[in-house]
Amino acid sequence: MNNSTPSCPKCSSTKLYKNGHDKYGNQQFLCKVCNHSFRLSHSHVHINSTISQLATFITTS
Ligand SMILES: [Zn+2]
Repeated sequence: MNNSTPSCPKCSSTKLYKNGHDKYGNQQFLCKVCNHSFRLSHSHVHINSTISQLATFITTS
């Protein structure tokens, strides 16, 4: 299992319902705060691309 606590990509809340799995087997979550549903793999991609964009910004400025 993943040892990091998943958080909502919209409001960053960690108060989440597990909302089953999609057809690819990815864990889906539903945020208790803003009702946003998302997949764990999606949030990781989003975080990674944000960090790499930030790193690019830092190195080029
Ligand atoms: Zn949320």
